[in-house]
Amino acid sequence: MKMAFEKVLQPLDLGFVTLANRFVMGSMHTGLEDGWRTAKRLAAFYRLRAEGGVGLIITGGVSPDFRGRLSPFASQLSHRWALPRHRTLTQAVHAAGGRICLQLLHAGRYAMHPFCVAPSALRSPISPFTPRAMSARQIQRCVRAFARAAALAREAGYDGVEVMGSEGYLINQFSCRHANRREDDWGGDIEGRMRFSLEVVRAIREAVGEDWLLIYRQSVLDLLPEGNRWDEVVTQARAIGQAGANLINCGIGWHEVCIPTIASMTPPAAFTWVSKRLRQAVDLPVIACNRINRPELAEQCLQNGEADLVSMARPFLADPALVAKTRAGRVSAINTCIGCNQSCLDRVFQGKPASCLVNPLAGCETRYPEAFAKTGRPLDLVVVGLGVAGLSFALTAARRGHRVTAYDAGEGGGQFRLAAKVPGKADYQYSIDYFLQQCRAQGVRLHLHQRMDATALRRIADNTACDAIVLATGVRPRRPAIDGIDHPRVMNYEQAILRAGEAPGDDAAVPGRRVAIIGSGGIGFDVAEALVHGHQPHDWYDSWGIDRQYRTAGGVQPTLPVFEPARKVFMLQRKAGKPGRHLGKTTGWVHRLQLRRAGVEWLGGVQYRRIDDAGLHIEQDGRGRCLAVDHIVVCAGQEEENRLADGLRAEGHVVYCIGGARQAGELDAERAIREGMELALCIEKRVSP
Ligand code: NAP
Ligand code: SF4
Repeated sequence: MKMAFEKVLQPLDLGFVTLANRFVMGSMHTGLEDGWRTAKRLAAFYRLRAEGGVGLIITGGVSPDFRGRLSPFASQLSHRWALPRHRTLTQAVHAAGGRICLQLLHAGRYAMHPFCVAPSALRSPISPFTPRAMSARQIQRCVRAFARAAALAREAGYDGVEVMGSEGYLINQFSCRHANRREDDWGGDIEGRMRFSLEVVRAIREAVGEDWLLIYRQSVLDLLPEGNRWDEVVTQARAIGQAGANLINCGIGWHEVCIPTIASMTPPAAFTWVSKRLRQAVDLPVIACNRINRPELAEQCLQNGEADLVSMARPFLADPALVAKTRAGRVSAINTCIGCNQSCLDRVFQGKPASCLVNPLAGCETRYPEAFAKTGRPLDLVVVGLGVAGLSFALTAARRGHRVTAYDAGEGGGQFRLAAKVPGKADYQYSIDYFLQQCRAQGVRLHLHQRMDATALRRIADNTACDAIVLATGVRPRRPAIDGIDHPRVMNYEQAILRAGEAPGDDAAVPGRRVAIIGSGGIGFDVAEALVHGHQPHDWYDSWGIDRQYRTAGGVQPTLPVFEPARKVFMLQRKAGKPGRHLGKTTGWVHRLQLRRAGVEWLGGVQYRRIDDAGLHIEQDGRGRCLAVDHIVVCAGQEEENRLADGLRAEGHVVYCIGGARQAGELDAERAIREGMELALCIEKRVSP
């Protein structure tokens, strides 16, 4: 069905301001907000998204005072001397015809410094610091700080502010009994608990006047057993509207909640049922967000009356021109955010600027000017292997005007194609489709299902114009030297993932009821997920205890329901210590929690002795043990697949290896895609400096 995207591209008239369309680029911390030196880089990042047609941009969170900073050197807007930096951003966006709001975020007890404050002196489970309970005077001062910050934002040229009242930050801490145990006028029942939010909104409205956008991001589903009830959510939303907000943005879950709300395993548009409920209960326009990553989902959300606007944050990292492409009917040309968090949130948590796994240019717009220009020296290039490294190279090189011919033994996509079969990673397929489609559109001559050996490649390189060969042939799974590794019970991870969805039984090619996994790295976790999910249907909401009828406080069951695994799984590694240590900060905990719930047994510090009809024999803490399992899946890492390189080089060909073919250790898709892009941006200089 071809969508017209009528609703999502319609302007929204708010009286004093009209938004060009219903797409909002939601607030996300890029790591460029703090400090002076990154202002130009952040401006270039926003400008490109404004040029791409987004209706409204909301910045990353900026604190209204010192104690509310997320970390000691995080950004704050309290003084006029900070205005020039902000004007750099607003002018860049306005020059591109866009609109931009500043998000005001007071971290409260989530602040990572000892000066943090909160309604009550209760430490959050994700912070080492116990906050000080705010006095009534401090609260009033904080309200004034919000108002001053908003007035300064107006002076800096912003089109409005978004007040962060969700995700467990200070205002949310006040509004919810989970973090607010006060017995004075700022606590108690919902009237007392929401008072702080209302005072903030009123003070801002008074400071900035009527004709300026004020968005309130409200926690509409706390996902905490001590969260607000639905009637309390509605009471607060209505009062916020009366206090002067123009729009309500629906925030989902606190950061300390052990339920994934934005990662890839969260179903697409998983929470638009809540924004719909709120929209039916209030007069204000409502914004929906969380895991809306495609224009089709945004359009559907508006068609179904689930929201008036749709907020996407990470999708604009993945593709700055998402709106322009939607407008032009080129939806298949959109580079879709796959919800991996690897290059955005995980990097920010490591103190690095955000970028994007599928679009390494994001956040680096000023660093790679070559990416936006054609080459002056077009080359003839041959790419072998169309996993994500090869695809990224081929596409970037072709965009820059090189003539690219590419070969793949299969359909292209490499390890990503397998990853797309893992539960919760189906969106990875969008990336493969995007890269292949764009390669074709840019004139890459694609030869799929064509395996290249040395002879075939030599023939091509000798007989056709070929300035360089790029080997992106990826990796081959490591086969550890364990006695009995060729036993029929041993299965490779590809087969385990592809057949895990079938019921275990007599078919020896389907993983059995008891499975041991050798290796607890990224792929070991993927295999374990596939095995425990198996063939049994799991309702995602039920499995995480989310109450879509909203009969419970916070919209969640008090404890996580039991998860019935499809198989008994053992995960092993030779190292002692926590398995999956290298998994991403923002998703690793979900995998570990999920597998713990599924009864997966982790065995660290093991030595593999042998594999035979009895199962897998190991030694742990000096004691021998046999794991009686039906299958042993090998996920013992990877080795470079670049056997063609040396021979070709010896014959005088110019050969580059990228991605897994260059270095298999610590390989991940982020490095593979970035390496492909970076080589394509400078290959003419490398070939003939
Ligand atoms: P990996 O993450 O490096 O894990 C390899 C595992 O194999 C380790 O647990 C290692 O543990 C074990 N191992 C290594 N050499 C071995 C040997 N000779 N014998 C027995 N065991 C051995 O590699 P991967 O799982 O293949 O993943 C490849 C890349 O893709 C990684 O960078 C990974 O992060 C990435 N990836 C990430 C995700 C995700 O983030 N969800 C998912 C898939 C893949 P011991 O050495 O302690 O035994
Ligand atoms: Fe989306 Fe992953 Fe890119 Fe983040 S890194 S924007 S989650 S695709």
